[in-house]
Parts: sequence; structure tokens; C-alpha cells
Amino acid sequence: MNRILSIIAGGIFAALLIVLTVGIVKNNGSRVREKDETSSTVADTSAQTSEITESFTDFITDVTEEISDTTASAVSEFTATERTVSAVSSSATQKTTERITSGTTAKKTTEKITSETTAKKTTASATTAEPVSSSTTKPAVGTYEYAYAGFNPQYIKITDANWRTVIVNRHYIIDKNYKPALANSVTGDPNSKLLDSRVAPYYNKMYLAAKADGIILTPLSGYRSYDLQHTNFENKITKYVNQGYSRVKATQEAAKIILPPGTSEHNAGLAMDIISLEQSFENTAAFKWLMNNAADYGFILRYPKNKESVTEIVYEPWHWRYVGVDTAKAIKASGKCMEEYFGLA
Ligand SMILES: [Zn+2]
Repeated sequence: MNRILSIIAGGIFAALLIVLTVGIVKNNGSRVREKDETSSTVADTSAQTSEITESFTDFITDVTEEISDTTASAVSEFTATERTVSAVSSSATQKTTERITSGTTAKKTTEKITSETTAKKTTASATTAEPVSSSTTKPAVGTYEYAYAGFNPQYIKITDANWRTVIVNRHYIIDKNYKPALANSVTGDPNSKLLDSRVAPYYNKMYLAAKADGIILTPLSGYRSYDLQHTNFENKITKYVNQGYSRVKATQEAAKIILPPGTSEHNAGLAMDIISLEQSFENTAAFKWLMNNAADYGFILRYPKNKESVTEIVYEPWHWRYVGVDTAKAIKASGKCMEEYFGLA
């Protein structure tokens, strides 16, 4: 009986042992799986982290590259700008040198460069008027006959498009071969002078209107050929040379009195000297009439008082230039001289 009991107890013990062992094994297995799962999760997480790190690195690289590209392009743009600036200033320096060589003062040189720059801008944006022909070309230094005395002007071409507003002065001159078609300024008048045939009808109209108001606008000097200007200028040079001046000095002195050939509006037939060559002409009724009415016929007082530093010509109340009615009115209203109005001063 006891033996049977002990076998049963032994069996139960053994069964318990088996159950316990299986349970432990099972338990361990699940722990391992859990561990594996944890490991795989860790592995996954680590892979993800690595992916994130990689894409972050890529992102950083991209951004860095982009920044670097942008910086490079900005730097290159800046460098290009700097190059342009240095090109411009080098051309300005060149002009300065040329102007200084041409005998003007350094101060005037700077002013002139600014004027020329402005003039270019004005020419580019102006649609109604072209003060200086686009075909203006700067001759090589020394091609103008009086270059030896420091005169190095630009040649301008008078065209159908620019003839009304073309600026002719000491810096922009007409070629010696230019000769406009000419006509009498006052129709049927024996004292008539010649003008560009496109200008003459306006002078005639103005003459008749003034006459109706009791004013006779006697024309004194209209068109003068380049050759005549040349002769007058040479005579003046000779006079100074005979007084003991060097040819260079004599030419420079002559240019203060007579405009060198090609630099006068009279050479282009676009201007008329009226009634008197005295500055006291400004005190006459005729001058007052011109001041009030000339613009209605397209004429302006070309060399006004207090603009001598710009025009480089003394006040000339007698010298009237045709620029077209609209432009004449606009210039008169502006209170500017022609160079200023067109941005050349
Ligand atoms: Zn004149």
C-alpha cells in the first residue's frame, strides 16, 4: 500500500517536474523571442535612425551645396559688377586723361564726364528729341585740325531725325563737308540772310508777326560756311601769332573770340543773329518781343545770361536758334539752356 502510494507520489512528483521543466523551457523561449523582438526593434530603430541620419546628412549636404552655389553666384555677380564698374571708371579715367590732354582743367573734365554720361542716358531714353545723333563717333585724338591746341571734339551727324534739336558746340561739331539746303530767311527782302531751308519759313513767319507789332527783326547773320568760319578763325590766329604768341597759344586765344570751324550753329544754318551784336540789345523792344514770342515760332535764346559756364559762350541776346515750336516752348518754360535741357550739363 505504502509502495503504491510512494509510486503515485513519485509519479505526481515526476509529472510536476515535467510540467515545471516544460514551463521553464517555454518561459525561456518566450523570453528569447521577446529578446529577439526587442533586438529586431532596436535593429529597426537603429536602421531608421541611420536612414534619418543619412537623409539629414543629404539634406545638409544639399543645403550646403545650395548655399555655396548661391554664394558663388553672388560672388561672381559681384565680381562682374565690380568689373563693369572698374571698366566704366577706367573709361572715365581715359576720357579724363584725354580732356586733360586737351587743355581743359581737371574740374571741368569731371563735369564734362558727368555730362556725357547723362547725355548718353538722355539720348537713350529720349524719344521726342535727339540732341546728339546716335551716329556720333568720337574721332581718334588728333584728327580735328586744331587738336594740336587741345581741341578734341566729337563729330556729330545732322540727320532728318535730329536736325531740330542737334547740339552743336565746342564739344560736338559738324563735319567740314556738311552743307544744308539753304533758303532766304525773309522772303523777298534784299537784306535776307540764308538759313537751313527747313528753318527759313519759321523765321519769315516770325519776321512778319513782329512786323505787324511794329518790330523789324533785321537778320544780321545766318548761315556761315565752314570755310568762312575757318578763314575767320585762321585770321584771328595769325593776328595773335603776329603779336608774338606761339601757334598753340594763339589758337587757344582765338578760340575765346571766334568759335573754331564746325563748332558754330551758324555753320549748320540753324541760327540767326538778329538786329545787333551788342549786349545792350537786351534793353530794346525788339528783344522783349523775341523773349515773349520767339518760342511760338520755334526759336530759343541759345546763349542766355548766367549760363556762360555751361554754354561756354558769352551772353548773346541776338543769337536765336531754331529747335522746333514744342521744344522751344519747353526749353523756355524750363529756364534751362539747351545743354542743360538735354542733359549735357
Ligand atoms: Zn550767332
